[in-house]
Amino acid sequence: MPNPAIPFDNTYARDLPGFYEPCQPATVPAPELLFFNRGLAEELRLGLAGQDVAALAAIFSGNALPEGAQPIAQAYAGHQFGQFNPQLGDGRALLIGEVIDRQGRRRDIALKGSGRTPFSRRGDGKAAVGPMLREVLVGEAMHALGIPTTRALAVVSTGEPVYRERTLPGAILTRIAASHLRVGTFQFFASHGTEGQVRQLADYAIARHYPEQMAAEDRYLGFLRAVAERQAVLIAQWLHVGFIHGVMNTDNMAIPGETIDYGPCAFIEAYDPRAVFSSIDERGRYAYGEQPRIARWNLSRLAETLLPLIAGNEGHAISLATEVLDAFPARYQHHWLAGLRAKLGLRGQVSYGDQVDTALGESWLDLLHAQQVDFTLAWRRLADAAEGDEAPLRALFAAQPGLDRWLQRWRERCAAEDAAMANDGLPDRAVRMRRVNPWLIPRNHRVEEALDAASDAGNLAPFEQLLNALRRPFDEDPANARYAEPAPGSFMASFQTFCGT
Ligand code: AMP
Ligand code: MG
Repeated sequence: MPNPAIPFDNTYARDLPGFYEPCQPATVPAPELLFFNRGLAEELRLGLAGQDVAALAAIFSGNALPEGAQPIAQAYAGHQFGQFNPQLGDGRALLIGEVIDRQGRRRDIALKGSGRTPFSRRGDGKAAVGPMLREVLVGEAMHALGIPTTRALAVVSTGEPVYRERTLPGAILTRIAASHLRVGTFQFFASHGTEGQVRQLADYAIARHYPEQMAAEDRYLGFLRAVAERQAVLIAQWLHVGFIHGVMNTDNMAIPGETIDYGPCAFIEAYDPRAVFSSIDERGRYAYGEQPRIARWNLSRLAETLLPLIAGNEGHAISLATEVLDAFPARYQHHWLAGLRAKLGLRGQVSYGDQVDTALGESWLDLLHAQQVDFTLAWRRLADAAEGDEAPLRALFAAQPGLDRWLQRWRERCAAEDAAMANDGLPDRAVRMRRVNPWLIPRNHRVEEALDAASDAGNLAPFEQLLNALRRPFDEDPANARYAEPAPGSFMASFQTFCGT
């Protein structure tokens, strides 16, 4: 029987020869389907509805690639913790093709953990069950939170061990992305390639992700500005849910503005701008509160690759690019403040002065920090306070006077707005707040618990239950109460994340 066909349209492979290496996935001994995202498969119009689990396992292990797949390993470079590595590339991933989804969006389908490629260096090209299921949980949670992200279509266990600090069961993830173009892709061709290749790559990226820039005369500068804008939006969203990416290297910053590469990521519990959980981030380069600054640093690396395209005169190109980069903090702040107002239950369209609202939000965060209050629950209980029920919020704070003073300021701000905007037809403040302040995030201890059960005992039930809960992060369903509870203090005190490579 022939392998099923997927209606691929592989522009990267077709239009960008020289930007990748063709490469076949390794064959795996005993593929078993651990996870399949039927809703996403439907959205992608893969036409696989009739396939049984064995056939899906064969497809998404790489053992039986669908007709029309063109597996390639993409070339990229990148700054890792500030150090330039000119040669990274897909060392354990393969782009197998692109499809057009139901909404007309082009999406990449890629395997991760599918064996060695010409870019593997010393790595084995493999991945383990735990980290791949982790990518499912966190990615699907981010998606449900409304944050742009790559998504997991499938996870297949391979029946093969992978050798890390200990021996782990192997797995392959199928990842869906708007594209896998990264800042590091530009860096690769700026450092090894020709100016013509950088231009070809930029034209491809513009046509695919920023078509509104195509006709503009200064389209490369416009492209840089548009990429920066999407990062400003994205990082503001990360901070508003307490997300720490953990390894914001330039090869992990996606040109289309999606969150990509869920390695050592984590969510904060007690609010702390300096929070770091990654075992390899010894100096806190990628700490929670550093992420906006790092985004700008990464965008500067992108800008460097585009200089020859931006203007013939290098000095002129630098000054134009610098203007875009210098505007980034204000663009970030703009999106952060808009999100903050929504979280505080303030109407977006009315501005009572950015400084007043920024100060109100910052003093709230200072209060959470000083008293080590759980970030997620504090916001959620503030919505209860908006309805007059302050007890749940008060229970989170050891000392009340600071909270009293802050609540009074917040109530005055809300009252002033309500007086000016009565009958605007919006739902009640508490309702609005509960739509933007999640009740559930993927709490680190629950994620670890679910992954340990799956990886050590082959028990997928905790993973599936947690995933189901995380798909409805704004619904306060008593059945999911255990997922809303903060971790025991002892857990967070020693919690560390690892790259999962
Ligand atoms: P990451 O830390 O996942 O962003 O990966 C950084 C680089 O290391 C990329 O070029 C990956 O392809 C490569 N890499 C990570 N894990 C492996 C592995 N097990 N085998 C080969 N290459 C890997
Ligand atoms: Mg990466």
